[in-house]
Amino acid sequence: MYHSHTQTLKIAHEFGTPTYVYDEKIILENCNKLLNLPNAFGLKVRYAMKANSSKALLQLIHKSGIEIDASSINEVKRALHAKIPANKILLTTHEIPMGEDKKFIEKQILEGLTYNICSINQLRNIKDFAAQHQVKLSIRVHPGKGTGESSSRNTGDKYSCFGVHLENLPQALKEGKEVNLIFDQVHVHIGSGGDPEAWKENIDRQLGFVQKYFPEATRVNFGGGFKVGRMPHEQDADINDLGSYAKEKVEDFYQETGRKLKMEVEPGTFLMAKSGSLITKVIDRKKTGKDGFDFIVLDGGMEVNMRPLLYGSQHPLTMISKEGKLLFDEESLEEFEGIAERVIVGKCCESGDAQCLDESGKIQPRKMGNPEVGDFVVIGATGAYSPVLSPNNYNSHVKPPEVLIRANGDLQLIRKKQNFEEIFVNEIGL
Ligand SMILES: *Cc1c(COP(=O)(O)O)cnc(C)c1O
Repeated sequence: MYHSHTQTLKIAHEFGTPTYVYDEKIILENCNKLLNLPNAFGLKVRYAMKANSSKALLQLIHKSGIEIDASSINEVKRALHAKIPANKILLTTHEIPMGEDKKFIEKQILEGLTYNICSINQLRNIKDFAAQHQVKLSIRVHPGKGTGESSSRNTGDKYSCFGVHLENLPQALKEGKEVNLIFDQVHVHIGSGGDPEAWKENIDRQLGFVQKYFPEATRVNFGGGFKVGRMPHEQDADINDLGSYAKEKVEDFYQETGRKLKMEVEPGTFLMAKSGSLITKVIDRKKTGKDGFDFIVLDGGMEVNMRPLLYGSQHPLTMISKEGKLLFDEESLEEFEGIAERVIVGKCCESGDAQCLDESGKIQPRKMGNPEVGDFVVIGATGAYSPVLSPNNYNSHVKPPEVLIRANGDLQLIRKKQNFEEIFVNEIGL
């Protein structure tokens, strides 16, 4: 987190709490790290926009030279709405576009969108169109092995059904061949936030089946999923090490086959997770008896950051008094007063509305400071899969505003706080 405590107070006063905050500087640094990854014969970086789809963020990331990985037809529409051209978008989805959606996707394909086939039925749905217009396709392969920060984030093993499974590849290739289709890109995404070693193993496996099945492929997309250590005790994946490994393997592939493959990666988390945080206010303090816990109640919880409840993930905490004094910073080595085991909860009527949970969803107290009602708690590393992946209107709480701290320090509102009426505007009474 770059922003200072004075900035936190300023944002809290100007925009209220809870508010999501992003640091432009960190986003741009992450973009640069990715764009400078080692590579053999060319690199394209895509941003998996499902991690955080706010328009200003898409525009910022795209302007830095990064393209888009969309996970749904609506995400394609949203990227276009942010003025990102179709030829900078890859579509990787479970959906099979039909009717108006099919017409829309076909139009975008003609404009240059890359369509990443994820099932044999998707192939059957688009192959005649692709053949007729001599459009080359990408194909997502299910490699049979994956990894993830939790089992729900593993997208490569038999418990998840993303892509055409290796065992079904011959059938897909046969059907493609019938209309002279060319698959010029082979794509695998094995999961989010898993073991970096598994990412490397996948490269070997993937290049193996590129050689076996895809003589015409010119590009390999190794997916995203780079692990980000949100907590001080967690380690980031070393993306330069991963890049070097990929480079070496793509060079070996060239030595063996004479084919120079271009490489793509498409992280979401790596770009956004630590670029964002959530400013909340302490609204109450309570205890649950002698053998119970010491609770800190915030004005934002599961409805604004669902990740602890979904994945048992932890987010670093910073506590700042209403006067602006730093009370606690989980990422600092400094000693703070009044540290004890406590539990952070939100304001929803649900015991799972806590930021301190283990993987099974049980309360797991953590050592932290001792803020008073009215003080501020910043929940760190909420830039990815927090604003977008939370039941925002649960308990009829409105979706918070989003503020971007520009590189020059200016504050820019990039999403207004939701109006209360918007929660039920589409409801029809009796
Ligand atoms: C979600 C997703 C990503 C990004 O995963 P991160 O863990 O956020 O980097 C990349 N590719 C595909 C196909 C995805 O579904």
